[in-house]
Amino acid sequence: MRAEIIAVGTELLLGQVVNTNATYLSESLTELGFEIYYHTVVGDNPKRLEEMIQLADQRSDLIVLCGGLGPTDDDLTKDVVAAHVQEPLVQDAEGLAHLESFFAAGKRQMTENNLRQVLTIQNGITLQNPTGLALGCLYQGVSASYLLLPGPPSEMKPMFAQMASPVLREVFPAREKLYSRVLRFFDIGESALVTELADLIEAQTNPTLAPYAKPNEVTLRITAKEADEAQALKLIDEMEQVIQARVGKFFYGYGDDNSLAKVVVELLKAKGKTVTAAESLTAGEFQAALGDIPGVSTVFKGGFVTYSPETKVKFLGLDPEKLAEVGTVSEYCATAMAESALQLADSDFAVSFTGVAGPDELENQRPGTVWIALAQKNQPTVATKYHFTRDRSYVRNSAVMRGLDLIRQAAL
Ligand code: ATP
Repeated sequence: MRAEIIAVGTELLLGQVVNTNATYLSESLTELGFEIYYHTVVGDNPKRLEEMIQLADQRSDLIVLCGGLGPTDDDLTKDVVAAHVQEPLVQDAEGLAHLESFFAAGKRQMTENNLRQVLTIQNGITLQNPTGLALGCLYQGVSASYLLLPGPPSEMKPMFAQMASPVLREVFPAREKLYSRVLRFFDIGESALVTELADLIEAQTNPTLAPYAKPNEVTLRITAKEADEAQALKLIDEMEQVIQARVGKFFYGYGDDNSLAKVVVELLKAKGKTVTAAESLTAGEFQAALGDIPGVSTVFKGGFVTYSPETKVKFLGLDPEKLAEVGTVSEYCATAMAESALQLADSDFAVSFTGVAGPDELENQRPGTVWIALAQKNQPTVATKYHFTRDRSYVRNSAVMRGLDLIRQAAL
């Protein structure tokens, strides 16, 4: 089952709008068992759209067109597809009733061109629009099927999920489905990960491996294609075992919408432990990362942002003479910040960050030099000097991620 996606809209070609619909549709169609071979963008031009459809006819079973279903003259997708399959456009009674009640309920007047939105291709399956007015349609033609969806993602996604997807499952029953597992790694770069797994990646057929680099972390998606879910999971388990044996020490969690902060919060919850922080160069970014996670209040009571030497003395009680002597980018400063925060917040863990975010040097230390200390109840404090690279924001993010990982490893 081959599918392709044609996004219609001159605004996409001009770079004013990013084609996010293609991303969503590719992912959703893949889950339904389609193989996606092409993404195309075409402007609001009937001749070029017809040319694209003719080309797509030769290579795809399902052609998904999004955009151009609106009321104005440049919304021409329905007209072009209807002419292509030699069917007239007809008014849909349910869509018309919805359109009329929408305008009756509001202050706006319905105009003649709104009626264009409730036209559908004769002999097609009309798809109602749960969040808008323009109707979609699935038309099963001789050489291919055509799925017409609206352009705005807020309309396209609900229509696809609620209306199109069940119809597609019936019309194109999948023999095989895709099953995926995402592994997340910290402290290993994409190129190092790919090198460690080079032979597996080269030999990949089923399951496949897809690495993806994000700021300060890498994810690896293992995808198996099988008719039987148990068999797919077995293949994924076997592949994961091999991967974990090689790079397991960098692995911190599963899932697309997971994060290091989330894993840390869940771990602390499970262990009944609390955390605090004293931040200089990160200026609260670590605590904000924790704050992003729902339910963090059970493990995070509060913390400190001490950006200047004065606040390090005033808020955390650091020794001003010692600080003047060794500087703020120092083992002493990091250790004292973490230990003081631990005591003041009465937490199980405290992490501190002090260093040079850049771009300028500080205390003759180069940008990216960061001391991070981890203090714990009844354990010696460990302070480590790091040299992070790239720009200011990356240095700060690297420090936050490292701090999270230190807590994770200590709490395990
Ligand atoms: P409407 O009824 O709103 O006119 P439509 O189906 O005619 O819907 P378009 O006019 O093509 O859709 O696009 C409307 C808006 O939807 C665009 O201005 C853009 O913001 C968004 N949009 C369209 N296509 C895409 C796409 N492929 N990816 C992301 N956003 C899109």
